[in-house]
Amino acid sequence: MSQQVIFMNNEFVKKEDAKISVYDHGFLYGDGVFEGIRSYNGNVFRLEEHLERLYDSAKSVMLQIPYTPEELTNLVVETLKKNNLKDAYIRLVVSRGVGNLGLDPLSCAQPNVIIIAESLSLFPKALYETGIEIVSVATRRSRSDVLSPKVKSLNYLNNILVKIEANLAGVPEALMLNDQGYVAEGSADNIFIVRKNKLLTPPGYVGALEGITRNAIMEVAAQKGYDIQEAVFTRHDVYVADEVFLTGTAAEVIAVVKVDGRVIGEGKPGPVTNDLLASFRELVQEDGVKVYSEQLNVV
Ligand code: PMP
Repeated sequence: MSQQVIFMNNEFVKKEDAKISVYDHGFLYGDGVFEGIRSYNGNVFRLEEHLERLYDSAKSVMLQIPYTPEELTNLVVETLKKNNLKDAYIRLVVSRGVGNLGLDPLSCAQPNVIIIAESLSLFPKALYETGIEIVSVATRRSRSDVLSPKVKSLNYLNNILVKIEANLAGVPEALMLNDQGYVAEGSADNIFIVRKNKLLTPPGYVGALEGITRNAIMEVAAQKGYDIQEAVFTRHDVYVADEVFLTGTAAEVIAVVKVDGRVIGEGKPGPVTNDLLASFRELVQEDGVKVYSEQLNVV
């Protein structure tokens, strides 16, 4: 690949020049919002939904994004083009911007907007064939009435603590429960369980981000005639499931074959997971904003 460039506040700069002030409140306080997006085969998957979630997150924390959704769409497309990428993970960040050392966002005059695109596979490729082991951890999902998990903010410490516990347990991902002990989600992905061909995933109010991959899997599963529902469930339901899998933009769709030492099903990716993974892989090849179509109006 030629020199990687990053979009930063109205210009594209070389990776080594893409630097932000230490006075940015994104750095000082985790004050900002972001999205992780993927492009497959030159199609940006569900970009509209990602942008809707970004604007919702920004509205929730009273952060004014200095671009329209159309402008951001074109900027994402342009970032991929400038980096010659068709298959990429895209990170779109809007931070509160440079202010003083106090936490008051009123000291920040202008948000910083950054778009990074590069190749990324969250887990080693082989794990998508074998499935992964996870553990449930002591760190609980932050309560919806404290910092709503629906806000995809730069404050990811709750999730990072979960990842640290996963690392300590020697597994690639971990399961977070909410404050009442119900299953919420992984550190950066949603969970589905399958029992007797019925699929369940926790509803948003339990403490799960309403993931865009999760929504796509729910749609695909319903189209394929699976019985799929949002439901509140416990670790026990996970332990006795026939199949478990995780979904996320970075993680994509990955089977879970062991949870807290309990082998799930036959200890390998099950038929429903494989079926949905295959449909998901087909869907992402076609569905999305076309990066290399001439019709797009690039700003
Ligand atoms: N939960 C959390 C906490 C996440 O960070 C992510 C990744 N954005 C997800 C779930 C999955 O959401 P999506 O499918 O939209 O990437």
